[in-house]
Amino acid sequence: MPSPPTVYLESRYRKLVRDLPQTIFFCPECKGDRRRRAACAKCGGRGKLPDDSVQELLGRRLLPAFRARTGKFHGAGREDVDVRMLGRGRPFVFEVVAPRRDGVDLEALRERFHGEEGHRVQIDPFLVVARERVAQLKEAQFDKRYRIGVAFDGPPDPARLAPLEGRVLQVAQRTPQRVVHRRGDLVRERRVTILAARVLEVGEADEAGAAAEFDVETAHGTYVKEWVSGDGGRSPNSLAELLGVAARCVRLDVLEVLD
Ligand SMILES: [Zn+2]
Repeated sequence: MPSPPTVYLESRYRKLVRDLPQTIFFCPECKGDRRRRAACAKCGGRGKLPDDSVQELLGRRLLPAFRARTGKFHGAGREDVDVRMLGRGRPFVFEVVAPRRDGVDLEALRERFHGEEGHRVQIDPFLVVARERVAQLKEAQFDKRYRIGVAFDGPPDPARLAPLEGRVLQVAQRTPQRVVHRRGDLVRERRVTILAARVLEVGEADEAGAAAEFDVETAHGTYVKEWVSGDGGRSPNSLAELLGVAARCVRLDVLEVLD
């Protein structure tokens, strides 16, 4: 019997917590290898670091419903594990490989999903799409709107802070130090628009230690954390440079993927 066709389900996810990766986050020590992970102290034999990911939360419901063994997650880009994904969420396609059942009630499944996981992940209604959608999403280059919580080494000068609102910055970013070992050292021309800048009042201070908040819109592929700190001179026109004080991103939310 020929195996049934793969099912492609498109939706958007909102990630409301800061400790959940988009896809399976393999242990950097044992790489999740079946034999090596058994003795791995880093992950305690699990082969991955956090227990869950958006991909796995979905797969745990979708795969049994479709009686499938394998699912693949295709996101339109991704955010770092500690970054929330808010607004209308990020588009993705979940690929159910070789399902042995069809006619799954996707809306009932989604309701159940929200009952169990809605406090950390919410999803739009699923749409069955053609396979081509995966490539389209992978190639799409969307601008993004972020809210950045920033901590400083000293108080920023209000006279330098106020004129930042509305500024459009051209930034030539070199590949960040934290990823240069796997991405290659390049300079990329990007754009950052500062939509809002505000110092947090006493009492607004959060556990992350942010002293100010910035809303920015960035071109696809901009490294936001590095734009804040300047990344040791690799990201010129940084926020730290504009304010003349060392700055670092202590929390980050994607407010909107601008598709
Ligand atoms: Zn491990």
